[in-house]
Amino acid sequence: MAEKYSVPRGTFDILPADSYKWQYVKKVFSEVAAQFNFQEIVTPIFEQTDVFERSVGGSSDIVQKEMYRFQDKKGRNFALRPEGTAPVVRSFVENNLGMTGGNTKLFYLGPMFRYDRPQKGRYRQFYQYGIENIGSDNPFIDAEIIAFGYAFLSKLGLKNFELEINSIGCSNCSKDYNQALVEYFTPNLDKMCSDCNERINKNPKRLLDCKVPSCKEIAKDAPNMLEYLDEDCRTHFAQVQEYLNLMNIPFKVNPRIVRGLDYYNKTAFEFLDNNLGAQNALIGGGRYNGLVEQFGGKDTPGIGFAGGFERLLLSMETEGVSFGEEPKPNVFIVAIGEKAKQLTAKLLFDLRTNGIKAEYNPDKESLKAQMKAADKEKTRFTLILGEDEIAKNSIILKEMISGEQQEIPREKLVTFLQDKLR
Ligand SMILES: [Zn+2]
Ligand SMILES: [Zn+2]
Repeated sequence: MAEKYSVPRGTFDILPADSYKWQYVKKVFSEVAAQFNFQEIVTPIFEQTDVFERSVGGSSDIVQKEMYRFQDKKGRNFALRPEGTAPVVRSFVENNLGMTGGNTKLFYLGPMFRYDRPQKGRYRQFYQYGIENIGSDNPFIDAEIIAFGYAFLSKLGLKNFELEINSIGCSNCSKDYNQALVEYFTPNLDKMCSDCNERINKNPKRLLDCKVPSCKEIAKDAPNMLEYLDEDCRTHFAQVQEYLNLMNIPFKVNPRIVRGLDYYNKTAFEFLDNNLGAQNALIGGGRYNGLVEQFGGKDTPGIGFAGGFERLLLSMETEGVSFGEEPKPNVFIVAIGEKAKQLTAKLLFDLRTNGIKAEYNPDKESLKAQMKAADKEKTRFTLILGEDEIAKNSIILKEMISGEQQEIPREKLVTFLQDKLR
């Protein structure tokens, strides 16, 4: 017997019983994107390794431990994309998308890859949705990006989530703050994990969101970023909050939010899911002024967010919200005899190309077997075509719930069903 295979560890198949749910979430996301005037961008799933090393940052877990790296036949270094922002910024610079000035508003959907320990809701190939607005440092835009996240989760019907925001300052105010963090953490380093010991000099803010309990305990009393913000960053943050208030979007300021990647500054935010417990960020985002310049572009501010489909779907299941209409045919055709089968070929095609989801099973011969197949499909209508109907140019339509039957002239069938299904 031939060997059977399974999916690589940390990956999964999206099977038909679930794929319509994924389609639904993508559809809602694209609709909200259109309402907020964002256009889709599709980048390759692999990039030069440099694209991530330079932007995501050498001190991040992603670059240090989690990237899928490979060399192609010519020895060039590539990585499967671990996140979506760096490729978008690479493309923005490469294609001069900012040429006409103003805001470039982009969204993306697709798989990302991280070599991480698989656990519930976390995979090695995972799917993200994200948006980027490149071109403005205006706090109005920060609020707009956050509002997009709020509108998206709300449109899906989710209720049990919270928005937390923070400002992590710019390079100017970070100087003093990083210094204060180094002074605070240095005497405690022997009680902290090896990651924290390594990061203290590269990116001391990362020590604030270490998940190791003993590190968490020490980080609890660390200096507060918000007290170190300079004038510009403080005003910016205050204005973001003002706009959110004007839109009636509820939020909480949480000075612990730092975001894991090096390129963030100023506004950072998370939409937290109250259903899921420990790993509870549905959406994470923030401002990345300076990133475009790092990619060789003209200094252009940017801000965006990303979220994972897997966690979103888990939350939707937990809250019991709708995934839209389950995919199934509207009508099932039962055809008795060879002549009926031939007529069905044309009939099926006419129904389908007129927007009616129709199904037929040519392998079942008897009326009983076909009716059983129709029952299994749970369609609203069954169409029955036998010798009598062929002779009269008609067809029998049976409403499956009520069991009611009526005979309909075949040339009227399409419009009749279109009316019924409207
Ligand atoms: Zn600042
Ligand atoms: Zn730690």
